[in-house]
Amino acid sequence: MKDFFRILKYVKPYLGYAGLNIFFNIFNILFSLVSITMIIPFLGLLFGTQQKVYNPIDLGFSATAIKENFYALITSIIDDKGKAEALVFVCILILVMFFFRNLCRYLALYFLSPIRNGVVCDLRNDLNKKILSLPISFFTEKRKGDITARMTTDLVEIEWSVMSSLEMFFKDPINIIIFLITLIIISPQLTLFVVILFPITGFLIALIGKSLKKSSAKGQNKMGQLLSIIDENLSGLRIIKAFDAEKRIHEKFAKESAAYKNIMTRLLRKKDLSSPMSEFLSTIVLVMVMWFGGKLVLGGNSPLSPEEFIGYIVIFSQIIPPVKSFTSAYYFIQKGSASAARIHEILDTENDIQDAPNAKSISTFVEEIKFKGVTFSYENKEVLKDINLSIKKGETVALVGQSGSGKSTLADLISRFYDVKIGAVQIDGENIKNLKIADLRKLMGIVNQESILFNDSIYNNILLGKATATKQDVESAAMVANAHDFILQCENGYQTNIGDSGVKLSGGQRQRLSIARAILKNPPILILDEATSSLDARSEKLVQDALNNLMKLRTSIVIAHRLSTVQHADRIIVLHEGEIVESGTHQQLIASCGHYKKLYDLEDFS
Ligand code: ADP
Ligand code: MG
Repeated sequence: MKDFFRILKYVKPYLGYAGLNIFFNIFNILFSLVSITMIIPFLGLLFGTQQKVYNPIDLGFSATAIKENFYALITSIIDDKGKAEALVFVCILILVMFFFRNLCRYLALYFLSPIRNGVVCDLRNDLNKKILSLPISFFTEKRKGDITARMTTDLVEIEWSVMSSLEMFFKDPINIIIFLITLIIISPQLTLFVVILFPITGFLIALIGKSLKKSSAKGQNKMGQLLSIIDENLSGLRIIKAFDAEKRIHEKFAKESAAYKNIMTRLLRKKDLSSPMSEFLSTIVLVMVMWFGGKLVLGGNSPLSPEEFIGYIVIFSQIIPPVKSFTSAYYFIQKGSASAARIHEILDTENDIQDAPNAKSISTFVEEIKFKGVTFSYENKEVLKDINLSIKKGETVALVGQSGSGKSTLADLISRFYDVKIGAVQIDGENIKNLKIADLRKLMGIVNQESILFNDSIYNNILLGKATATKQDVESAAMVANAHDFILQCENGYQTNIGDSGVKLSGGQRQRLSIARAILKNPPILILDEATSSLDARSEKLVQDALNNLMKLRTSIVIAHRLSTVQHADRIIVLHEGEIVESGTHQQLIASCGHYKKLYDLEDFS
């Protein structure tokens, strides 16, 4: 329930609508109450037992005053025009009441819609904002599908369960209370009897609710796993087909899918139990009321006339639907709480890479980037050990070493994708933890092995480098990146949509777009992480030219896959198992016959 109340906080901006909803609900209930109580005079007229009232007490807000005045009105119609006319009058009154009742019902729902969708929309936006702000390390722990599930199916669950229950939550209690008061007015004795039976029903209902919540949490987790598999399958489709693994992959999916089906079947069965059970329970109560009340009427000296008793039963039967929907609302909330908890888990994740309280601005890079005794580990695995390194402005520094030696990690530390725990990374003598993250990242341009592009036009993909750039800026960036010519050959030039992650382009073309994006950003520091390693020789040449243009006059950290591409770097740093084992120029390192020489020879022979 805690999670449900937290979701309710999102209703706050919509309190005005909530007020209107409650307002119209109250009128809805009052109109339906009045139209139902009409059954009493209606029966009275039919059976000829209608009470005649000639001198009613003054009209006021007490039940007796309203009743007496109404009966006086009917009496005068009977006396003046006859019973048939009075019957018409009562019927028309019922019709009018029902019309207003339904009008109010619609208006109540009308004002509920913006709350329902508004809350879900606000939650969704909060979630997205949170996900964008969380550090990269969060996403290696959580599977993508699980996060997708939380953002989609869990939100839908909240919309359908929690939000649809809101209506019942606002309406049913008022409904039940008003009807109960009417019942007490008609017959306090009988009503006392009813109220005693309530707690027993409540207990049974709560029991089912708890078990529903557990199943629902299971179901949503399973859905997350399913979405993870779908996500992996989609991105690995090429490999699945190439290895002829469709059948195996499908079997794995079908197994999870069946597990989800079983959980959901169990869940639905439990949920479906709620309605028949509460109906049967309320029927027990109803039958006992019929028996007890019937005895009162038959007894002769009861204060209850037969038509009043029938009216009582009709009103009582009208309490059953709201009680039923109130219990289903309770079930829905229990079920939705599981989803709410999953959403809160993300919203509550602490972001440990954030601006320090009085973080400093930085707009230029003047001197050097410095690693001072940096040791870094992912969870328990030490990846970098006591790194001391200084990169002067304007220098091109190459990082080489076997795969897994920690090169990418070292580069990630500079842009604070991960935070250093031991030692420090400094820019111009300032620990980067004391700088504003946005400012720090503005200083850097990053080109990775896989070009990260978005399903949008070529133009907008480049524009991501600098939102304020003009068309001319974008085109000249593309020219420097050797991309302008191929872009013009695309079907719609710069406005061509490149498809999901740029699938419509070749690897080299994608890479040149990411380079154009970095050129447009025009950062003083460049980080190239194996930017050409996935390309064939011909496109590598084009991309390498583009990169050389990009590196001109900048400080660059180049992580290289092929040593041939970094021979001209000012300094080459050799990493081995997380440690810097050598550094120097190509000639120096070859001459010293160490790790670099070995790597170089390996490459020569391959
Ligand atoms: P390189 O770029 O030199 O190939 P990386 O810096 O990517 O090496 O990785 C260094 C080591 O850290 C590897 O052993 C790798 O398995 C591990 N590693 C990389 N990223 C993560 C991560 N997010 N969580 C845990 N271990 C990681
Ligand atoms: Mg790497």
